[in-house]
Amino acid sequence: MASRHLHIASPLIESRALERRVDSRVLLKMDALQPTGSFKIRGIGLACQRLHARGCRRFVSSSGGNAGLAIAYAGRKLGVPVTVIVPESTRERARSLIGEQDAEVIVFGQSWQEAHEHAQNLLDAESTYLHPFDDPVVWEGNATLIEEVLADAPGIDTIVVSVGGGGLLCGIARGLRIAGRTDVKLVTAETRGADSYAQSLHAGELVTLDEITSIATSLGAKTVAAAALAVANDFDVDARVVTDREAVDACLRFADDHRVIVEPACGAALALVYGNNEAVRQSRTLLTVVCGGSGVTYRDLSTLDLDKS
Ligand SMILES: *Cc1c(COP(=O)(O)O)cnc(C)c1O
Repeated sequence: MASRHLHIASPLIESRALERRVDSRVLLKMDALQPTGSFKIRGIGLACQRLHARGCRRFVSSSGGNAGLAIAYAGRKLGVPVTVIVPESTRERARSLIGEQDAEVIVFGQSWQEAHEHAQNLLDAESTYLHPFDDPVVWEGNATLIEEVLADAPGIDTIVVSVGGGGLLCGIARGLRIAGRTDVKLVTAETRGADSYAQSLHAGELVTLDEITSIATSLGAKTVAAAALAVANDFDVDARVVTDREAVDACLRFADDHRVIVEPACGAALALVYGNNEAVRQSRTLLTVVCGGSGVTYRDLSTLDLDKS
């Protein structure tokens, strides 16, 4: 019997290690501990449950990353077959993690764009394609993170969160709006070369990157959701960019401090706190969203080739 949600209420813990770096209380929302290792199961899980209830018979995805993994997990839990189309460049580890969730993995094309187009061709009346971040149902599911945090720590004044396409950010903003907490400051983190959100915010309009040059592939949306840009209409948003090196170093420190492995995508947010970035200095109670990620092992983190940064 399926439980009400496919995600878990993740632990909210104090971090003495990070509190040594900044002048505030630091709370960690440990979504790295979700089944499949990232927050993605919150929004995608809800989207899959809604589609299942409406009679959808197959989920189709073109994500070889944490979104594809969350869809594969949701499909297995709901008894809905899942097909994930990934390009040849997708690493063996990602393919096998998705396969472990009993999803069908089809390797097609040289680029994500080709795989994505092939996925659209496979759709029929009973199959649904799931977008990883630009979907209000995904934001609704991601907002559960804030419900859980505010129930335990109503005093937070600042949230540090990584941004890829902005689905997590939109969910956080949604949860805060519903709770009447638009006073909370949002500090967004990206890596250089995947900084489509910071560039859009500074330009005041959506900016599309020519290519993604950061190793933080989970942040690699060339264009963010329009709703993510609109978050800045309601909130004080401070968009910050770190180097790949800073993000990876934060992952390694975090592994030592908290014994949890996260992707550089998540390390970007941690790097702002470890580095006592000026964006977090006014905070008294800082929430850091440990968004997680299953794409890297400790060995990967310690041997990454970071010539570019
Ligand atoms: C998807 C993902 C992100 C970015 O989330 P968006 O909703 O695309 O902004 C950040 N970190 C990890 C680990 C992810 O899987």
